[in-house]
Parts: sequence; structure tokens; C-alpha cells
Amino acid sequence: MASAGLEGLVVAHLPNIRYLTGFSGSNALLLLELGRATLYTDGRYREQAGQEVEAARVAIPAQGNLWKAAAQRAAKLRRLGFEPERVTVAQRGRFLAQWPGKAAGLREASGWTEALRAVKQPEEVAAIRRAVELAAGVFAPTVAAMRPGMAETAVAGQLEYRLRQAGGEGLAFDTIIASGPRSARVHGRPTAARLPARGFVVMDYGVILGGYVSDMTRTVHLGRPGTRARAVYAAVREAQAAAIAAVRPGAAGAAVDAAARQSLRRAGLGAYFPHSTGHGVGLEIHEAPRLAATSTEELVAGQVITVEPGVYIPGWGGVRIEDVVLVTADGAEVLTPTPKEMLTL
Ligand code: ZN
Ligand code: ZN
Repeated sequence: MASAGLEGLVVAHLPNIRYLTGFSGSNALLLLELGRATLYTDGRYREQAGQEVEAARVAIPAQGNLWKAAAQRAAKLRRLGFEPERVTVAQRGRFLAQWPGKAAGLREASGWTEALRAVKQPEEVAAIRRAVELAAGVFAPTVAAMRPGMAETAVAGQLEYRLRQAGGEGLAFDTIIASGPRSARVHGRPTAARLPARGFVVMDYGVILGGYVSDMTRTVHLGRPGTRARAVYAAVREAQAAAIAAVRPGAAGAAVDAAARQSLRRAGLGAYFPHSTGHGVGLEIHEAPRLAATSTEELVAGQVITVEPGVYIPGWGGVRIEDVVLVTADGAEVLTPTPKEMLTL
């Protein structure tokens, strides 16, 4: 803040607020001044904020207008940063209506907290590891219960029930179960479609534990896989291994993405990989850094990312393999313990 010439920073994005203060409620605004922090929330969270927040003063404005209260508190500050991607036009207006500094004093401070969050503390890595292991633990029993004719939604239900039974605080995102030709959809929501006697099932799911998320994908095959299914699966597995081998501090996100893409291109499948290779995980399911063709930023030890190449052939089916990977001092550690051999049921 000081080096950017700011006297304060308004933090509105809840995962950023949680990271900075520990507050996990659903309504809050954080005003950071040099040497002082004030967390604004509403009366529902009085007790919770008292327990969770140590390093900030907790304020509960009488009328529940957090933006108005923060603007009044910031009245003496002349230059304030805010998160342009995280604040609505209406919220900005509500703030400016009360703040004497007006629009000229409001500066865009984009991604500051997100950049801090990208590099995990050891206790954050431990929390992600626990979430990853919880999720991995329900994979085998769920797969063991899968049969041709079962609805995709029923598979998702079994998976989600087990995640909750095992202590999951919630789902990290909507579970993806896409079977048969539907597995060619990158984000196939589970439908009433029945698992086929023969074909792929892409299973992509995650759980929240201790506030941190997991994210894994495995693709299993029902029935005897044909030559093409074997070849596609092997190519994706090889591409994933190539990308993981490229993960190390100093490597650009784009280099990891290129490793996966080149591997699939060599297998003649480059045209069927339409998404980026991975993303950071932490308090959110998609956070910094990104592993895309345009990601010039270099990886840093302590970052936790997914590596998830896939091949999706319209009308036929798709394969994706996704692990959570920790960037270590000299390379990468795969946190997801689940085997990656092609599983045929
Ligand atoms: Zn995923
Ligand atoms: Zn992912």
C-alpha cells in the first residue's frame, strides 16, 4: 500500500477477507489502513467474527450498510485502493456517495491479495493435502458401486454422500460425471443419462475441508476398451506426466501448458484439447496461478496447482486426468494419491 502511494485498501472479495482475517462468514468488507484493519459485517456474524478474527477490529454497522460505514471510517484518507474485479458498480457508488475522496482518490488495486494467496503457507498446504486425501479416499468405493445402467446423477450422489460422510464441509464445485459420448463435454453436468455398457466415464470432483478445496479427475472405462480408447487414454496420461515434469520454480505457466499440448500434438490429438492445463487451488477452486498458453508468470515454490490435460472427441468420448500438484523447491510433488492406470470396470 505504501509503495503504491495508498493510505488504505478496501477488500471486498470474501476469500481474500478470509485469507487476511480468518473470517469465514458470507457478508463482510475489510478496510485496511497502514497499521489498522477493520472488518465490517452484520449482526448474524457477531459471535463468529469475535471467534475467528484476531488481527482486525470488528465493526457491525447499525443499519447494516457496510460500504457506508467503511467510507465514513476512511473519510480522512485521500487515496484508497479497491479490487476492480470484485466490486459491483452499485457498491462502488454506495462507497463514493459517502466518501469525500471521490472517484479520483479511488485507485485500482488488482489481484494484490490473490498474489499473496497463490503462494501457500505450510499450514495451507497441509489443509489442501487433507482435502485432497479425503476426496481421493471416496474414489475407489464409488467406482466399485458403478454399474452400466446407473444414472450419472446417481454416481454423483454416491460420490457426494461419501465426501460428506467422510467429513467434507461442502463441495468445491458442481461434480462432473459425464459418461459415454457425453464424456466429450469438458464440463459435463451429471444427467439422467445411464452409464453405458462400454465407454468412458469422466469423474471430476472436489471437496472443501478446513476452508480449502481439492480438485481431481479420473476417467474410468466401462467394458472392454478398444484400441482407440486405449490410445487416447495413454496419450492423456503421457501428456499429464509431461506437464508435471515441467513444473518447477521459475518455469512459466505457459511452459507447463506447452508440455501437455506438445505431447498431445505428437499423439495426433492436439486439436482435441480445448482448455488450459491447470489452475491454482486454495480457498477457491480457480485461483492464481493459471497454466495457460498465455501465462507468462513464473511458478513459485509453495504454489498449489492442478495439472489436467484432456482429450474430447465429439460424438465419441473424452478423457481427462487431473491431480493437485505442489510446486516444491526443486520440482513438483503430486498430492493426489489415486493411481492413474486405466481402470476398466
Ligand atoms: Zn477438476
Ligand atoms: Zn481443475
